[in-house]
Amino acid sequence: MDDRIDLHIHSDRSSDGDYSPEHIVNLAKKANLRAISISDHDTVDAYPETIQYGEENGVEIIPSLELTTLFEGREFHLLCPFINWKSEILVDLVREVAKRRRIEARERVEKLQNLGFDISWEEVLHASDPYPPLGVTIAQLILNKAEKNKTPGFSQYLDGENKPFAPYHFYKNYFMEGKPASVPRRNVDLLDVLDKILSAGGVPVVAHPGAYFQSAKKEDLIRLKERGLKGLEVYSSYHDAEQKSLYKSIAEELDLVPTAGSDFHGSIKPHIHFGELDEGGYWMVEELKKRRS
Ligand SMILES: [Zn+2]
Ligand SMILES: [Zn+2]
Repeated sequence: MDDRIDLHIHSDRSSDGDYSPEHIVNLAKKANLRAISISDHDTVDAYPETIQYGEENGVEIIPSLELTTLFEGREFHLLCPFINWKSEILVDLVREVAKRRRIEARERVEKLQNLGFDISWEEVLHASDPYPPLGVTIAQLILNKAEKNKTPGFSQYLDGENKPFAPYHFYKNYFMEGKPASVPRRNVDLLDVLDKILSAGGVPVVAHPGAYFQSAKKEDLIRLKERGLKGLEVYSSYHDAEQKSLYKSIAEELDLVPTAGSDFHGSIKPHIHFGELDEGGYWMVEELKKRRS
C-alpha cells in the first residue's frame, strides 16, 4: 500500500453517483489508496456501512459529506472530513437541506414543463429515490429521453465529445441564474454551515475552489478561515496545473491544509477515473486530524 488518499468520492447515495459504498471501497483497495472519504451530496447515508467495508478491506475511511452552500451570493461546496455523522446538529442540517432541495427541484421541473419539456415530478423522484433530486439528475433524465427518442435540437449536448459533459451543459443553459429554468437558490448559508460542521466534529474544507461555478478568491478564503475554515481542496480534477499551484500557495499563506479529491461519481463525470489523482498524500489526513476541534 502506498500513501495516496482521495477525500472526495461520491457513491450512489448521491443522486448523481453510480457505485455503492462497498464497490467504492473495493476500487480503493485495488487502486492502493490508504484512506478515502465518501463525501456524498447533502447526505451521510453511506455511513456507517462504508467504515465497516473499509475495516474489512484495510482502507481507512474518513467520514464526510459535501454541502452546497451560498457565500455572498456565490455557490461554494464544502467538504466535511471527520464529521460525526450521528450528531444531531448534522442530522438537522441534512434534513433542512433535503427540504430545500425538494422545493428547488419541484420548481425546476415546473419551469421545464412550462418550457415544453416532457418531464414529470414523479419520474424525477423515482430517478433520485430516496434522495432529493439534484439539478444534474433532472438534466440527465431529460437527456436520456432525448437520446432515446432522438429528439431534434439535442445534438449540441449529445454529439461527440460534448456528451460526457451533457448534464452540466444543460444545467448551465437552463438552471444557472438568468437562464429559462432558473429558480431562487435555496442553498444553506456557508457561514452558518461552518459553525454547525465545527460543532459536529467536522474539519471544513472548501472543495474545488477553482471550479467554474464559484472560483474562491483569496479574500474569500481569508474571511472563511476567520470563521473556522481548516482546509482547501488544492488538488482537484477541476483544476489545471496553474490553479493547483495558485491554491497551493494560498493554502500555505493562510495556513489551510491542502487536500486532494477526485470528485469521482461514475458515469456522470466519465472524464474522472478512479484512483488517478496522484497528489493526495496521507500527511494531509494527519494535518486535518490535528485541526479537529
Ligand atoms: Zn462539488
Ligand atoms: Zn463532489
